[in-house]
Amino acid sequence: MKVLVIGCGGVAGVAIRKCCQASDVFTELCIASRTKEKCDALAAELAPNTDTKITTAQVDAGNAEELSALICSVGPDLVMNIALPYQDLTIMDACLACGVNYMDTANYEPEDTEDPAWRAAYEKRCREKGFSAYFDYSWQWAYREKFEKAGLTALLGCGFDPGVSQAYCAWARKHEFDTIDTIDILDCNGGDHGYPFATNFNPEINLREVSAPGSYWEDGRWVEVPAMSIKRVYDFDQVGRRDMYLLHHEEIESLAVNIPEVKRIRFFMTFGQSYLDHMRCLGDVGMLSTAPVEYEGREIVPIQFLKVLLPDPATLGPRTHGKTNIGCIFTGKKDGQDKAYYIYNVSDHQACYREVGSQAVSYTTGVPAMCGAMMLLTGKWAAPGVHTVEEFDPDPFMDALERYGLPRTENRSPVLVE
Ligand code: NDP
Repeated sequence: MKVLVIGCGGVAGVAIRKCCQASDVFTELCIASRTKEKCDALAAELAPNTDTKITTAQVDAGNAEELSALICSVGPDLVMNIALPYQDLTIMDACLACGVNYMDTANYEPEDTEDPAWRAAYEKRCREKGFSAYFDYSWQWAYREKFEKAGLTALLGCGFDPGVSQAYCAWARKHEFDTIDTIDILDCNGGDHGYPFATNFNPEINLREVSAPGSYWEDGRWVEVPAMSIKRVYDFDQVGRRDMYLLHHEEIESLAVNIPEVKRIRFFMTFGQSYLDHMRCLGDVGMLSTAPVEYEGREIVPIQFLKVLLPDPATLGPRTHGKTNIGCIFTGKKDGQDKAYYIYNVSDHQACYREVGSQAVSYTTGVPAMCGAMMLLTGKWAAPGVHTVEEFDPDPFMDALERYGLPRTENRSPVLVE
């Protein structure tokens, strides 16, 4: 099967290396990105040790015509969009134009949040739904009918969270519960890279996400709270006690639709005090702003300028020590009895670095992207339309995660988050 990967950053690097470990499925890969040199360097490194045939291309995924021309000329079975969420819609359009299946790791958000047309739709959504993060599924769910009619599948958000977090929900629902009452998704990065401040994946996307107001789903509606205003302390297996904060996160939106009986869904992520202090200062002085400002006669976007100053997440691998622990805690009922269940993965930053040259945050995102692609290519997940991970049978995906480096641990008497 032939796959076109768009993007060649931290996450794509891992996914591509993993695809090359499964050459029986991924027989041909074309790596295309804005900076072709990165694609060429990775292809040259991988080619001697894989049976996967690798080619490279230069593309601006924001340019619909350029993109369609590339996809149609490569003629892949699947496009893996591992660039940035800004390009989700142009890549989906190009996939439809060329009759190719699509997947990504993060849902759409616009690069320019001042764009009047986008802003009008955004403000309407804020009023109607009650959460104000820049990203939501509505833009990509609007493509459902087009993909269904074309007989094509679009798989959205197949990283770890979103992605594996939803597979854990589908797994819990299939194997552990008759009904689920609550879901808490806990994302702990216990790693230390030694820098005063750096983000573990694309800084612009990361800082937008964590500086947005927090929100959770309860009793059929969104509850929004100021950013970082709900804090809990949790003792994570193999990491230890960490402060974690409630965030808005994209999979809450799809889980609320696809597991409608759930009364409450929350998402927590760990942050150290130093990270929060840096982020608050940067926010206070305007460095997190996405609105262009004029500087010496040209326009710059503060958060994009900040990205240039911060360490490239793809370079954190050799410096990062410690572990990640990401998973879901469920409460609900099985055979009439109350039940709790915790399922999670622990990944070691240095072990990931030794295997694929990346830290665990890129690893835990890139491996599920490759496993999701494998599900689509082998027909294990086949349903025309636009879907999120929890809509598919979790079993073959969970087997693939286990096999390709993200084993699960289960605990049937977990400490719950208050
Ligand atoms: P990086 O910034 O490291 O890489 C992004 C890549 O996309 C770069 O190769 C970049 O090219 C390329 N790119 C950007 N814009 C364009 C464009 N217009 N046309 C073509 N290529 C482009 O990001 P990450 O690897 O850290 O993140 C990748 C994705 O994974 C993001 O969408 C992120 O939100 C998502 N993610 C998802 C997670 C999950 O658990 N679901 C967790 C972590 C990340 P260039 O080198 O020229 O800049």
